Amino acid sequence: MTDPGAVRRWHADLAWLPGQGVHSGVLIEAAGRYFTAVTPGVSAGDRPPGTVRLAGFTLPGMANAHSHAFHRALRGVVQAGQGTFWTWRERMYQVAGRLQPDSYLTLARAVYAEMALAGITCVGEFHYLHHDTGGARYGDPNEMGRALLEAAAQAGLRITLLDTCYLRGGLSADGSPVALSGAQERFGDGDGAGWAERVAQLGPDEHGMLDAHARAGVAIHSVRAVPPDQMGPVIACSHAYGAPLHAHLSEQPAENEACLTAYGVTPACLFEQAGALGPRTTAVHATHLSGDDIELLGDTGTTACLCPTTEADLADGIGPARALTAAGCPLSLGSDSHAVVDLLAEARLTEMGERLVSGRRGSFRAEELAEAATVAGHACLGWPQAGEIAPGAFADLVTVALDTPRLAGAQPGSVLESVIFAGSAADVRTVVISGRDVVAEGRHLLVDDVPAALDAAITPLLSRP
Ligand SMILES: [Zn+2]
Repeated sequence: MTDPGAVRRWHADLAWLPGQGVHSGVLIEAAGRYFTAVTPGVSAGDRPPGTVRLAGFTLPGMANAHSHAFHRALRGVVQAGQGTFWTWRERMYQVAGRLQPDSYLTLARAVYAEMALAGITCVGEFHYLHHDTGGARYGDPNEMGRALLEAAAQAGLRITLLDTCYLRGGLSADGSPVALSGAQERFGDGDGAGWAERVAQLGPDEHGMLDAHARAGVAIHSVRAVPPDQMGPVIACSHAYGAPLHAHLSEQPAENEACLTAYGVTPACLFEQAGALGPRTTAVHATHLSGDDIELLGDTGTTACLCPTTEADLADGIGPARALTAAGCPLSLGSDSHAVVDLLAEARLTEMGERLVSGRRGSFRAEELAEAATVAGHACLGWPQAGEIAPGAFADLVTVALDTPRLAGAQPGSVLESVIFAGSAADVRTVVISGRDVVAEGRHLLVDDVPAALDAAITPLLSRP
């Protein structure tokens, strides 16, 4: 853990300071977990003794605002052949059916370590795999959630545990609810009150904190999985702790159609009627929206979390990112199914999707995309004091090498554009999280061999029974 009083200094050759652009020679100082001073324009010769040089380009920590850690096991194996979101979901349930607290910890630790290597300093884990096979309760009914908290601690990340209410298996074509079945039985808490009772046992403090590195968040899986009359306890829990509230929203046209049949309104409208939208709420995907939906989300200050690599991977579609931000929605980014773990790719694809749909370039400036990956992502996970290199913020730093084949030739005046539009997770060299060194020279300092850890966790989950 970080010594609360330890003073550290870094000197970044180039750094992006949100709202202030790119500066050279940035002296960054921290005490314990927080930055205390940031001074651009300091020459190398004026560095105080003991200052660590950050060669390359330094960004604030990135926030992965939407993760399902266990989906990482599916990477590659779901790419053969054809199918849809719905056939992919069947494979995902097979993996979900095999996980136990110990294997979940092992897998999530490795996945979060992969995230740290990619410059991610905080993860929003949308967690619904709560119970044992058939829905049987573990001795501690939050054992699976606690495995995720421990995994983040061991990998050096902050986490918001978005504990997810998931009560139904879906809506049938005629709008009637479908009971949970198979692996889904592990997700359910009976009703909203049952969910709230279990979440209270996680023991958040009055501010919703679960530990120094962890805070409680809440989630409504989707309108498919939670009827509107059961959303109240989730919304109340968000209000009680000031906790972020996340929900999958209009990822698929079939979800919209079922919602219209069942309730006569779109998912965004249903959430609004239930009182679920607002500045603490994040709508994940927000892909298939009407003009009225976009207005509702914007007017309520709801954040839109796009997951463009997953949305492309699952053939979901391209969300109206620019229309959402124009309506007033902050934008954040997530790697969701972890088809890849690379927030620079998520940022880039957000703009590329706009280009493909609109026939125009430059809907989003690189700075706006970087803000989505950093400060806005942290804010929607309940960490408004993170994602910026500024006094008082969490001391998170991500340094990208500029001497890689992808980024060689980057110029100081357009380095942020180079990194957003051509950089990758593989270019990340140094990661500091809450004042603690987590990645140095591209190696994770807490998880010895991340690829081996991933392989050891994933292979048993995919082997034949
Ligand atoms: Zn998701």
